Amino acid sequence: MAEPAVLATVVLCLILILVGFEGLYADWLRFLLIMLGVVGTIYAFFMLYVIIPSPIRLKQFKWPSVLANAGAVIAGVFLLSGNLLLIPLTIMALVSLITRVLWDRKVTYIYLLISGLGFFAVTIGRTSFTDIMLHSVFFLVAVFFVETVERLYIASQKRVDRLQAINNFARQVSASVDLEDVVDLIGTAIKDSLQADTYYFGMMEGEQFKMQLIHDEGENFEPQYFALEGSLTGWVLRNQQPLFIPDMRYEVELEGVSVVLMGKEKASLCWMGVPLNARHTNGIIAVASYQPNDFSRTDLELLENLAQQAGLVLDNAYHHAQVEAQSRLDSLTGVFNHGHIVKVLNEEAQKCIQESLPLSLIMLDIDFFKQYNDNYGHVVGDQVLVVLNQAIRQHIKASDSIGRWGGEEFTIILPGTNGLQAQQVALRVQNTINTLSLTDRAGNQMPFPTVSQGLAVFPYEAKDVFKLIDLADQRLYTAKERGRNQVEPSQEDWNPEIT
Ligand code: GH3
Ligand code: MG
Ligand code: MG
Repeated sequence: MAEPAVLATVVLCLILILVGFEGLYADWLRFLLIMLGVVGTIYAFFMLYVIIPSPIRLKQFKWPSVLANAGAVIAGVFLLSGNLLLIPLTIMALVSLITRVLWDRKVTYIYLLISGLGFFAVTIGRTSFTDIMLHSVFFLVAVFFVETVERLYIASQKRVDRLQAINNFARQVSASVDLEDVVDLIGTAIKDSLQADTYYFGMMEGEQFKMQLIHDEGENFEPQYFALEGSLTGWVLRNQQPLFIPDMRYEVELEGVSVVLMGKEKASLCWMGVPLNARHTNGIIAVASYQPNDFSRTDLELLENLAQQAGLVLDNAYHHAQVEAQSRLDSLTGVFNHGHIVKVLNEEAQKCIQESLPLSLIMLDIDFFKQYNDNYGHVVGDQVLVVLNQAIRQHIKASDSIGRWGGEEFTIILPGTNGLQAQQVALRVQNTINTLSLTDRAGNQMPFPTVSQGLAVFPYEAKDVFKLIDLADQRLYTAKERGRNQVEPSQEDWNPEIT
């Protein structure tokens, strides 16, 4: 980056040599001009090819270079006068630029201070006040150079930091399928890349909007539901478009938006929100600042980038959860498959022991289903299995589970339910099934098969889940033997000790 300025210095040195050869000045001055030009040119090339390419030499050469450069400028000013003074002054401004690029701001100002003091010491009394003022402009230009380079450095550093934050986020987030991890990483990425006073990340959960991550002035808040009515967040989610409001003090005219303030107590004055742009997740990342115009279009792009990555990962997490859920289900009926229902039974039994609660298990089997299949066909039989499970579901709680034990046999797990309550459930299921019928394509009514059920209660009747299954199974067969379409134990021979 310093090379153009070094080459410009070479050109100035060559001009010195040309002026020396021109013959307008006294011989001694011409000799000095040529000498200054030649030494300056050699020094510039030495910098260009020996010092600048080597970081070690650059470090070692810092102070010698500052002193040599300041000395050369003071010598030039001492030896030259009139218009020719403009050459060492221009070189001085260029060298301050080079010094800032190669080293740092502090060393550059030390260089400028030495050169400036030397310049005034040499010229005071020799030059008019007007000329001194005019020459001071070169120092002003030098300061301008240094400060401009400084800002460019800060801006490019910020850019690098942001890219790094995005990169880190993308790398870490791609390995994650867990929503909580993703939320944490979003928070870290926003913190590392934007100076936001307030930020949040939220997703739609059915009809409700849940803020998963809320941060305000250094404090994190618990996830909470948030009414979207009239809010900027609502607008972004509805329109699926990014929204950037640099200064909220001006009226925000957006369809359906009335509430525009966000933040704990203070009002945010600069707001940005971007949708996640995911297929299965409708969410938003929003940041705000208490200062107006605190964010730029670049910040918006960064946030969009973050949202895109987050959206991808959340979609992945969604798929992962979906596949996992599918692997637990029976594909025909949608109830848990055999493997998973055994797992659920073990887990629920553990919980009930800890909480000293009973757990009831019902084994349900369709009566004469082989024959039913023979009469009405397998397709209708399959339909029976689906409708049957829908009917069971009407009579159980969300915390209860149904599993396909095998073929046309199902398990119903009722945690926290005693035998008498379980019997009521089984009877209600039986009654509902007795009222069902199916209609074929031609509109003909077909009867619905009946079911037999056996139930057992944990831990009162069986100390472990396998004994519990055995007992419920035995009772199911008792119900079959008794004539089917019934529950065992029946209401008549109910043992009150079971409850
Ligand atoms: P029981 O009253 O003694 O239980 O008689 P059943 O005919 O129901 O018992 P069995 O064990 O003899 O026959 C079970 C039948 O269930 C055999 C099979 O055709 C049928 N079945 C098992 N799984 C499915 C299925 O996924 N779809 C259909 N349509 N039928 C099935
Ligand atoms: Mg059967
Ligand atoms: Mg069976």
